[in-house]
Amino acid sequence: MELFADIILPLSGSGYTYRIREDLSGILVPGMAVSVPLGPRKIYLGIVHRIHTKPPSYGNIRETGAPVWDRPLVSTEQLAFWEWLSEYYMCSLGDVMRFALPSALKPSGFSDEEFFQDNFKPRRERFLSLAPGIDNPTRLNETIDSLARTKAQQAALIAFCGLLPEEELFDGEIPMKRLDVRPENIRKLIERGILVAVDRESPATDGRLQALPPTLPSLTERQREAKEEISRLFQNKACVLLHGITGSGKTEIYMHLIARELETGHSVLYLVPEIAMTAQLVRRIQAVFGNRVIPYHSHLTDRQRAEIYRKLNRDEGGYLVLGARSAIFLPFPTRSLLIVDEEHDSSFKQTDSAPRYHARDCAVWLARSFGARCLLGSATPSIESFHNACSGKYGLVRLTERYGSARLPHIIVSDTIRAAKRGERKTHFNKILLDSIGETLAAGRQIMLFQNRRGFAPYVECVRCGWTARCPQCSVTLTLHKNEGVLRCHYCGYSAPLPIRCPECHADAPKPCGFGTEKIEEELHRLFPDARIARLDRDTSTSVRKFETTVSDFAARKIDILVGTQIIIKGFDFPGVSLVGILNADNLLNYPDFRASERAFQQMMQAAGRAGRTDDCGEVIIQTAQPDNPVIRQVREENYEEMVRTQLSERRIFSYPPFSRLIGLSLKHRDHELLSIGAEMLVRDMRNHFGNRVFGPHTPVVERIGGEWLMNVLLKIERKKSFAEAKRTLANILRDWSLDERFRKIFVSINVDPQ
Ligand code: ADP
Ligand code: ZN
Ligand code: ZN
Repeated sequence: MELFADIILPLSGSGYTYRIREDLSGILVPGMAVSVPLGPRKIYLGIVHRIHTKPPSYGNIRETGAPVWDRPLVSTEQLAFWEWLSEYYMCSLGDVMRFALPSALKPSGFSDEEFFQDNFKPRRERFLSLAPGIDNPTRLNETIDSLARTKAQQAALIAFCGLLPEEELFDGEIPMKRLDVRPENIRKLIERGILVAVDRESPATDGRLQALPPTLPSLTERQREAKEEISRLFQNKACVLLHGITGSGKTEIYMHLIARELETGHSVLYLVPEIAMTAQLVRRIQAVFGNRVIPYHSHLTDRQRAEIYRKLNRDEGGYLVLGARSAIFLPFPTRSLLIVDEEHDSSFKQTDSAPRYHARDCAVWLARSFGARCLLGSATPSIESFHNACSGKYGLVRLTERYGSARLPHIIVSDTIRAAKRGERKTHFNKILLDSIGETLAAGRQIMLFQNRRGFAPYVECVRCGWTARCPQCSVTLTLHKNEGVLRCHYCGYSAPLPIRCPECHADAPKPCGFGTEKIEEELHRLFPDARIARLDRDTSTSVRKFETTVSDFAARKIDILVGTQIIIKGFDFPGVSLVGILNADNLLNYPDFRASERAFQQMMQAAGRAGRTDDCGEVIIQTAQPDNPVIRQVREENYEEMVRTQLSERRIFSYPPFSRLIGLSLKHRDHELLSIGAEMLVRDMRNHFGNRVFGPHTPVVERIGGEWLMNVLLKIERKKSFAEAKRTLANILRDWSLDERFRKIFVSINVDPQ
């Protein structure tokens, strides 16, 4: 019987079926990587998806090549994960493959030669061990004595033995490159049958894996209880949320759970937001788990990534992968532990290219589907996760006190409008903040000043009464489109003219707001000429090295004041910081997003968490024009749960997640008019099926990128409707719509669960 294989290729299209060569039937299995021809000349690496007996409807069926490696490159579980990703996030399996496998594992070429040349060749290495006959100290000593006349070989053998720990002397091995002797002496020892050499792929780690159990920090009573509670909950739940305030020692709890997992031979995946992947955390984890730790992030070379992938694909468990979101695609033995630290962080969501996945949600899915466990940790959990914990879907464990004698810092809210009226404000600083900076500098302590990047989305505010322009339908701030002089809602497209007078106090015209870190730095230099000041944001951290230098200089107290965007508030532990200033909380509160309040709360709490991490009592000063804003009050009272309650009730009213699910569509084309017509038509088609669940089309904040115009549409599906069915309907609508010749070239990207 003829066998066929559906093959996944790293291309956006789908439906590639090939005949399986007779000699390969029974050898090819799903997940294997094979070379396949495509088009007149090209050869690609494809992944076998399904094997079946149904010939495709088209003629001229071509044959697959032989497997590139003898074991599947993608496990059955990974294939199931890829299928879920493509279905859930509405992209092709090819899109998933393109992203999930490092380039070096996806060779292609115009001839077999080119293909195999491009092919990933793992580094091979020579390993040495004692010959099997030499299995006790007596034999070894005799052998050494027998080399008395060839001193160089004798010395080489002694040097070899010296590199192995005593208990591994007779069964251990070492990479040849570690033995610092002339190669000819080693060759002779091999010829004499004293040493044995094997060549194989070098492991990601040198030498033996660090012994277990590792030396762990001992837990406090509260931490131990939390750890036991987590283990207990894992007996019935795939997912547990650890809600622990900053500095409560969540990392120490992870370490204990990881250790147990590794001891039973499992591997652990530990995800952190990209920016927290700094040396600080890696060092802390490596200090405990040594070479079992495999860091995985976007700064590795493609070759390094391919090596790690192959290693995990090939080896048994026992590793701890510490990675940014893309580590979720690494091959993993099932029934292991997945940790997502700072689970509320939006950088776990990929937005710029397909698959537009959320690594936290993937981790939860993986744990549920394959009997693994998923631990989400945060000081300020996302509302979705907290909601899931309260409804019993996830287990919930709390840690409410900081480790040791550290206390949560004292939070002061400073009113910018009142300060301005009293003449107690200099440019962007209220007097109280300036005084406090001066005192902190005088005391030889450090300061962090936080200015949100998102402040660049311009909104308008009345400088007199603090009124801001908001959308009547969406509960978000309106964004100023300066060129047209109008205010727009980026959710529903509502627009209003820029008011001439403030509608609240009828005084002056409301003013555009938003200022950046660079300006702040400049002013600080003027105000505190003797202070050592540095800035960290996307502009200054162009390289990892630069970023790390600033971070380590600050840690070494070579810098007094660090100004930065949200990248400075994630996970750092700087004991010298006793003052944290949030320069403009209004930027956070007024961002046009239904998650603005939640994010503002999370960022302010996280920023506050940087202060007073040792026993000194830290201070946090928040500057705002809206001191009575409920979120500001909730931050001051550190009342996470009240924040969640108010946000949930607002979201229920406006039907936002978790009470609905969203799909964002972004349309892109050079021709603005064509794009508008296309978007209008698409929205019309969508309304036929989805009615008033469709919002837009509307222009985003950045309306033109690289000469192409953008237009957005939002689809909101309430919880009680089937999300999967809505996605199928949407896919059909999009397919029919794109059949229109005119719209062929309009690029549509789909973002499921936009953040
Ligand atoms: P979180 O991740 O919850 O913010 P961390 O794990 O970073 O908290 O802990 C904050 C600080 O307290 C760190 O410097 C950490 O080393 C220390 N710490 C926490 N728990 C312990 C412990 N059980 N033993 C020793 N140090 C601890
Ligand atoms: Zn609106
Ligand atoms: Zn006003």
